[in-house]
Amino acid sequence: MTTVTAAEAAYVVAALLFILSLAGLSQHRTSRSGVVWGIAGMVIALAATVGLASRSITATGLVLIAVATAVGAGIGLWRARVVEMTGMPELIAIMHSLVGLAAAFVGWNGYLDVDAGSNGGEKLSGSLLGIHHAEVFIGVFIGAVTFTGSVVAYLKLSARIKSNPLTLPGKHILNVGALVAFVVLTVAFVARPNIGLLIAVTVIALALGAHLVASIGGGDMPVVVSMLNSYSGWAAAASGFLLANNLLIVTGALVGSSGAYLSYIMCKAMNRSFISVIAGGFGTPAAAADDGEQGEHREINAEETAELLRDASSVIITPGYGMAVAQAQYPVAELARKLRERGVEVRFGIHPVAGRLPGHMNVLLAEANVPYDVVLEMDEINDDFAATSVVLVIGANDTVNPAATDNPASPIAGMPVLHVWEAANVVVFKRSMAAGYAGVQNPLFFRENTQMLFGDAKQRVEDILRGLDALDAPVPEMAGTSR
Ligand code: NDP
Repeated sequence: MTTVTAAEAAYVVAALLFILSLAGLSQHRTSRSGVVWGIAGMVIALAATVGLASRSITATGLVLIAVATAVGAGIGLWRARVVEMTGMPELIAIMHSLVGLAAAFVGWNGYLDVDAGSNGGEKLSGSLLGIHHAEVFIGVFIGAVTFTGSVVAYLKLSARIKSNPLTLPGKHILNVGALVAFVVLTVAFVARPNIGLLIAVTVIALALGAHLVASIGGGDMPVVVSMLNSYSGWAAAASGFLLANNLLIVTGALVGSSGAYLSYIMCKAMNRSFISVIAGGFGTPAAAADDGEQGEHREINAEETAELLRDASSVIITPGYGMAVAQAQYPVAELARKLRERGVEVRFGIHPVAGRLPGHMNVLLAEANVPYDVVLEMDEINDDFAATSVVLVIGANDTVNPAATDNPASPIAGMPVLHVWEAANVVVFKRSMAAGYAGVQNPLFFRENTQMLFGDAKQRVEDILRGLDALDAPVPEMAGTSR
């Protein structure tokens, strides 16, 4: 078997492993094996690619590849080991930016290579040359949009810049203008390739990527993360065409289409138009100043919350980003277990974009061994709040904000939320009266049936557990008289 046939066979195996990986990752129970399939596929893909490259490059080139792989793997391992669960979205965003950057470089290299008459030893002419130039242009465009879009997403998600949407005058005209310019420049480049046009499209794409993501408001960021995931897949596929690498095309298409589908699902869950989000927040209402007088809030302490829970017949816990920050999932799971032992019906209500990753809360609760059957999706539980004695809102904010349903001027208007306020009592765990990720004040905190339990969520839940134990402990004088 020649090296090429062996490498192509290895690519087919790797592509199948990637498909198995995606299938595995779609469910909790099989997600670990999904990761293992993915790692195996990537090892095979890397080995086959290096084997293929070794036919045409020098020993120095191979050493350089080995060094680059070792450095890249080292950085990847280090980042993955130290990253907090809450820091995953920004890590993913910065990874996408690297895919975009690589695709833009591959495109530039494809142009310079052909311009120098080499193209890896192959001479292109006629329509093949035209196709090659179109691939270069499209690859550079998608790569550069992905690069700056992901960098801005990283800055927003890591709170290095504000998550408010940027509203430049005529922003939609700017976006459409950039797309039209891209189409016109592509035609011109295929007809008469020159470096000036390539520089122009690179600059336009860099600006478009930054503007598209900067225009999107905080509440819509989950969709942006999955959209950039999709873009990075298409950028990789474009590189695959340029490098004539089938595996890169297949892998890029898998990532591109699964990212697009995830974005579609998230848009549906958030009642957002898919087109409007990818077009940079087209049609989203202008962010209304929402800081007006909201009224008084009421506070409760951990002992009083323990009493409330002791007397409750049904409890729903709605966790959010704050539970992840506080790492409160273990005491929360313990609280749920204790209450269930006492005969209280306890369930969890999970909003599709709670936390900072799709499935973030499900992962944390699974980690703390909360049984799957008491963890319900928003649609499954939203009608049950009205018949619930106590709702514990643990570090959630935007996902339980009634303004989304009551206030059409709110930046999160129309986003489905958990109807926690319909319960008899609501206890909100947070450290202050600060707004959530979307930067919108939450009228829930000022409702008559809501009480605020301030402090770190983990500490407060542990205080409640102690409070419940104290309520259970026999009263000393009663103990003496009960014989
Ligand atoms: P939010 O981000 O709206 O609010 C989290 C709340 O947790 C804050 O109000 C904060 O208040 C509180 N908090 C933070 N740390 C602690 C702590 N240690 N103890 C107690 N409370 C704490 O959370 P939600 O989960 O409700 O909403 C998620 C938001 O993130 C949505 O806007 C969503 O669109 C967005 N998003 C989601 C992504 C996803 O894929 N799931 C990705 C990107 C963005 P305080 O500071 O007062 O304590």
